[in-house]
Formats: sequence, structure tokens, C-alpha cells
Amino acid sequence: MEDRAGPELFKIAKTGLDSFAGALKKASYEVLAPVQDGEATRFGVLSDEEIQIPRLSTRPLKELFFPQDEPLLSFGCGGAEAMSVEASGVVASESISPRVVLGARPCDARSLVLLDNVFVSSEYRDPYYAVRREKTVIITFACLSPGAACFCESTGSGPYDETGSDILFMGLADSYVVKPVSERGKGLLKEVFPLSEDGFSGESCILHPVDGEDIQAAVDATRAEEKLAAFAGVPVEAAVAALQDVDAFDASTWEEIYRKCLGCAVCTYLCPTCHCFDIGDEIVGASGERVRNWDSCMFPLFTLHASGHNPRPSKKERFRQRVMHKFSYFVENNGCVACVGCGRCVEACPVNQDMRQILSVFASRGGGS
Ligand code: SF4
Ligand code: SF4
Repeated sequence: MEDRAGPELFKIAKTGLDSFAGALKKASYEVLAPVQDGEATRFGVLSDEEIQIPRLSTRPLKELFFPQDEPLLSFGCGGAEAMSVEASGVVASESISPRVVLGARPCDARSLVLLDNVFVSSEYRDPYYAVRREKTVIITFACLSPGAACFCESTGSGPYDETGSDILFMGLADSYVVKPVSERGKGLLKEVFPLSEDGFSGESCILHPVDGEDIQAAVDATRAEEKLAAFAGVPVEAAVAALQDVDAFDASTWEEIYRKCLGCAVCTYLCPTCHCFDIGDEIVGASGERVRNWDSCMFPLFTLHASGHNPRPSKKERFRQRVMHKFSYFVENNGCVACVGCGRCVEACPVNQDMRQILSVFASRGGGS
């Protein structure tokens, strides 16, 4: 790889996106992008189809790093034979190809940094998650039009947030401005698009260096204040202060707001930062697998003890747990809310529970109400 500082910003035509993906594949990267899955979109392997960048994928980015079902190890348990246990090989770093996520949104990229607090903190390292993080470059597309439920700006993120991104694409009328954010992002561009005399060329000269000041003015013009304001407006800070009040746990407000919840857990499954899981053994004949599955604090079995006692016996306690975890306990432990304001839970809830309204209620009433 050539050793040079290189330009800071680049431009690529919107029509060059498929060539960009093609160059990554040619360099032996697995390209993961939003793909259609029935009526939903999810991050999956981009084969020959044209790349599409939806406003937000239906399913969260977390499943590329923390799959819904994952064998952790396999074992034999045949009759009188001694039990043998062996790791399934999922952990081995060589089993995960170097890969690029092309088409995340800023809230998706930020959600991974929040999950890192849980899976690769200074105290714990989940090898299954960690190896996928180490092998994956994240390319994010800034948002120009908020969805009806988006409130990323209110959570400390925003449509141009670079947190968790290795490269950020910012859309202009017919092109994208490409900004390498991390050393890993810079390294990928250097590797895949070697520098010619007039900048990165690749095979078809799809990336061009651009002047930083000129292009910044064009980007600023697209991110007008009124557009950004549409992502804001939820009083998250005041809600956090209320939920951290010592009386918030027993507030009568919970009684009022939990009732219509069905306990279906759609909100937690689609949430990019929810990370509850269960581990069980699945045995067929003389062999078995230890499998990790997503679980949810919205399910009654999640906290059911073997004694029969359940510390969260009703939907009220379970609903409170979800809100308190994201906006009080996670803040205490990690210094930030466990929410990126993507609005998936708002859009998917069958009974219209709306996290923005819940936060507004606590912000206006305080925690002791
Ligand atoms: S999606 Fe709605 S109804 Fe289902 S558990 Fe979440 S808040 Fe309750
Ligand atoms: S709580 Fe809702 S808005 Fe916040 S990150 Fe999870 S799904 Fe998105």
C-alpha cells in the first residue's frame, strides 16, 4: 500500500455506486448492503443486484454482528461415550471474510459503538461479536430527509453523525462527497482505489479528489437548519434527568403508559441497540449445539427464576425496564443513552407506543410523578 497523506475529500457520481461496490468485491471484500427480504429490508450480501440505499433498513445493523440465532459450540452426547465438546468454529477469525457494509445510516453506525460498550468493553470481550467488528468496514450515508419517527438529533446523534463510521457519503444533487473518517476507512480507499496523478482512479476513475472548502459549502447548503430541526425536538436530556430521579422507579406515570403494550417484543427485536439474549442447548440424537438467541426484556420468561419467582411479574415492570435501561441505567454505566433515535420501535409497534411521547411525558412531569 502506498504511503501518503492523500486528499481529505472525494466525489463520486451517484451512477458510480455500483462500480464502487464492484471494486470492493474485486478486492475480495464481501459487500453487505440493504437488500430486499419480502416486504422488509435488511443488511445482506450484495450479489449482482443494483445497490439501493433506503431511508432506513427495516431490520437493524446489529444482526450482522450479533445474529438472531448463533451456534456457540457443538458437542457430542452419545450414550455411554464420553461427552465431547468442541467450539463450532464460528469464533475463528479466519472464518469471517473481510467485509464492507455499504449503505448504513449514521444512526446504524452509532448503534454499533453503543453495543461495543456491552460486547467489547474493557471488562468483557465477546469473541463472536468482536471478530465481526474487527473484520468489518462501515460506510455510512448521511440522511437528507428525516422519516416521520426519526429523532436522532435529540439523542446526541444526527443525520451527519460520524460516530462509528469509517467512511461517510454525503449526498449532493447528482453525486456523493466521500469523507474517510477513520484510519480504517482511509486504508480501504487507498487499497481499493490506488492514487493516480489526478487522484484515486480505480479502474474507471470513479473517485475524484475535491477541494475541501468548495465542497463543504455545497454540503452545508444541503443540510439546512430547518431540515436538521426535523430530526430534533424530543427532550431526551430532561427525560434522562427525570428517569434518574430516585423516585422514578415507583412513579405513577408507569401505571398510565404501559397499559396498551402487548408485550410482543417487536420494539426490542428491531431496536439496533437492544441486546438481550438467552443461551440454550439443542440436542438431536447424539450431538448438540449450544445456541445463543435474541431474547427480550418484554417477555415474562426472560426474568422468571427456577424457583417460580419473577421479579418483573407484569407488563408494567417489563415496560419500565426497557425505558429505564435505555435512559437511566445505560447512562449510569456508559455515559450515554442506549438509543440512537432511529424510530424503528415507533414505526413497528402494533399499538403505537411512541418512545418520543414517553420521554416527553417524563421530561414534563419529572421522575417523581
Ligand atoms: S412493540 Fe409495542 S406492543 Fe410490542 S412490546 Fe414493544 S411497546 Fe409493547
Ligand atoms: S429505542 Fe427505538 S428509537 Fe431508540 S434506538 Fe431503539 S428502536 Fe431506535
